[in-house]
Amino acid sequence: MDWGNCKDILVFLEQKEGKVVNVSLEALTPARTLAGLTGGKVLALAVGTDNAAAAEKAAPLCDGVLSVEGAAFSDGCSDAMVCALEAMVNKYAPAAVLAGNTPLGRELTARLDARKGLGSVQDATALKIDNGTPVWTVPLYGGTVLNDVVVDTLPVVATVRSGAFSKPEAGEAAPVTAEAVEVPADAIKTKVVEAVKEISESVNLEEAKVIVTGGRGMGSQENFALVEELAQLLGGVVGATRPAIEEGWVSRAHQVGQSGKIVSPALYIACGVSGATQHVSGMTGSGYVVAINKDEDAPIFDVADVGIVGDVMKVLPAMIEEIRKR
Ligand code: FAD
Repeated sequence: MDWGNCKDILVFLEQKEGKVVNVSLEALTPARTLAGLTGGKVLALAVGTDNAAAAEKAAPLCDGVLSVEGAAFSDGCSDAMVCALEAMVNKYAPAAVLAGNTPLGRELTARLDARKGLGSVQDATALKIDNGTPVWTVPLYGGTVLNDVVVDTLPVVATVRSGAFSKPEAGEAAPVTAEAVEVPADAIKTKVVEAVKEISESVNLEEAKVIVTGGRGMGSQENFALVEELAQLLGGVVGATRPAIEEGWVSRAHQVGQSGKIVSPALYIACGVSGATQHVSGMTGSGYVVAINKDEDAPIFDVADVGIVGDVMKVLPAMIEEIRKR
């Protein structure tokens, strides 16, 4: 791939209430791979009303932080943020622009593509270099197909899936450079009138280290309380399959899978979950998977590190009792 004069890799650091979102830090890892190819720097771009915390977090993980601050860049104000992103792309002529595959990451990269006539990759789960060309892995159809995708416009634009890459090792803190971006008044077409904190924000499945998920096999709302109890004991978060949500045992904010959240905890415990593709595609990034199912042929056992063939109503109380003893 001919990079021309483009060398640096720009990574958009998404923030929520001043806190940088994990997947943005994870995106610094493929950025490092690309920078190895182009001979450029990894630059983390923070855009917000106060970037101090985000800059501090990112500085040891990259070669430089660009900080665009101003009242216009409040959470949710994507019209202003895309102006900042475009201004930094114009100024630094990066070889690639990466972001987390979040609603904001997808919106900003798509708008950048439209403004600059670029192609892009969304929801990449891996990056390999083939003959000097970055090749991204993009799962389709709930993970049953893995596409290899090459972007041949510059900068290469990509969003990466949460949990697909680990954060880079921390080194010395890189310098933080303040960048001024004027946002023209007519660039703001929408404004946030009110931010209503949804339950999904407090669930935060994407960043949980432990998830205990209940499926239809839990049988009832009453039984589902065992899933909640185990999650609480392990300091984890409750996940659910779609049927468990449709039964009304837990809110939609807990759904893991193709049409729910993509998760990557260190420990994932699946209780009464069959292991349908649409569910599994959301949890394959988990570190260690424990599955409890009474059917020894349940597909969930194919992705489990430990499989317990048994009735959740016997296994879960026993697990809870044992953990309580410790
Ligand atoms: P089931 O498939 O019914 O499995 C229940 C399991 O519990 C069985 O394996 C059974 O052996 C076991 N069991 C029953 N009783 C017990 C017991 N007492 N002890 C132990 N084990 C027991 N699903 C998702 O989860 N997330 C998604 O994001 C999602 N998106 C979808 C998107 C599309 C477009 C479509 C078509 C479907 C989607 N689905 C999704 C639904 C998905 O296809 C499956 O139907 C669903 O994941 C199955 O959920 P389940 O494992 O809880 O239920």
